[in-house]
Amino acid sequence: IRTTASLLPPPRLDYRAISENITSKSLNALNRKSRLPHDAVASVARNYIEWKRILSELNSKRNERSVAGETIKRNASGPERDAAIALASLLKVHVKELEATLDIAEQKCLLAALSLPNDTHPNAPLGPESAAVTLSTHGPQPLPADSKRDHVAIADHFDLLDLRSGSSVAGTSWYFLRNEAALLELALTNYAMSIAIDHGFTPVTTPDVVKSDIAVRCGFQPRDDATPPVSHMYHILKTNTSSPELILAGTAEIPLAGTFSNKVYSSINMPLKVVGLGHAFRAEAGARSADTRGLYRVHQFTKIELFAVTTEDTSESMMEDILSVQKYILEGLDIPLRVLDMPTEELGASAYRKYDIEAWMPGRGSWGEVSSLSNCTDYQSRRLHIRYRPQGADAVETPLARLPFAHTLNGTAAAIPRLIVALLENGAIFDDNGSVVGLRLPRVLKPFWIGGKKRNIV
Ligand code: AMP
Repeated sequence: IRTTASLLPPPRLDYRAISENITSKSLNALNRKSRLPHDAVASVARNYIEWKRILSELNSKRNERSVAGETIKRNASGPERDAAIALASLLKVHVKELEATLDIAEQKCLLAALSLPNDTHPNAPLGPESAAVTLSTHGPQPLPADSKRDHVAIADHFDLLDLRSGSSVAGTSWYFLRNEAALLELALTNYAMSIAIDHGFTPVTTPDVVKSDIAVRCGFQPRDDATPPVSHMYHILKTNTSSPELILAGTAEIPLAGTFSNKVYSSINMPLKVVGLGHAFRAEAGARSADTRGLYRVHQFTKIELFAVTTEDTSESMMEDILSVQKYILEGLDIPLRVLDMPTEELGASAYRKYDIEAWMPGRGSWGEVSSLSNCTDYQSRRLHIRYRPQGADAVETPLARLPFAHTLNGTAAAIPRLIVALLENGAIFDDNGSVVGLRLPRVLKPFWIGGKKRNIV
């Protein structure tokens, strides 16, 4: 994280908590398969001890200097004044040196601490993706797996998807939605937005470009440390060397989190809830070929994102509230769903707990993730400086640096391409010969449909 004037102040990480819990913090990183620099946790602890030692020496030198200053003030002339002047100038140099070493110790703490992931909810399952626990299932019974229901074949039949033009214009895994699929994107977007608004989320549209510093503070790494580095996001070429590095947002979570940065909120106004309409850009380096068929794993997609900022004691209940909004949106689409409690290795850097919702996709013959919800607790707010003032008689007196950090949560309201996959694969209608003859779309989309009905897509 660079800290030039145009960027936010350095993150405020809890070095004391890390130093006092070396074993559990190391185990947590291990359980999450976080790639830490060698010795990162111990390095925080070592440098924190050093930082405290330097700070206490610095404070005592500052005190000595102010005593010398008092002596100078008290004595207009004479040997006592001369001695105090000599001492004060020596102390000035010493204080400067100590300030510089304090800064270095703090930088070392920060560098090591930034590599650590968030803590993990005690109930999160341990292990890889396969250890996910199904919390609930919803919607109709899953249809049998059937390759005739492949969304690419159904889209071809109705001329809904132009992958060839996507490929010639931008490359593989870029696409054009056509005819009813283009209208479906608009209908799904407005449907999800309208439900989020009904549940108290303020609608916003977001920039698709963000400073890479903001993405890093949200827990995303625009490139990794492989040699040569692999880019996970699209970088925008700089036209001016002094401007900050820009990337295409991988999710509206990043600009949404950024809007709350460097601010203090009153807890009576919390939770703050926004629903953002943005485009997500994913380089998807190393994506597997089965997933890249059709619309399942693409480089750009429209996504409606729920984002909330709340207090420490309400973030767990907020997570359940957001989950119920997500379920409401998806259950309306009449597709088989299951909600998963995601295991430690799937939590990334920022999530304390994560629920994914998967939809059954009979053409793919598998469940596919259509939605994800993360409680990031104070991971993002410590990096973005999002604080709140708790209610209480003395709260107004509390200095800024002592105010608690807010908790942030983000969840998908609708990620369009995978919803289209699920709707095509579950909604296709076949005649007795096994030929696709129609497509049944959910009734809830009717009020949001423009362009009238022309074909057997109902
Ligand atoms: P994420 O922000 O990675 O948790 O993704 C949120 C949702 O976006 C997922 O649940 C998917 O529905 C969808 N999604 C993620 N990556 C892609 C992709 N490359 N192509 C299409 N949809 C995606």
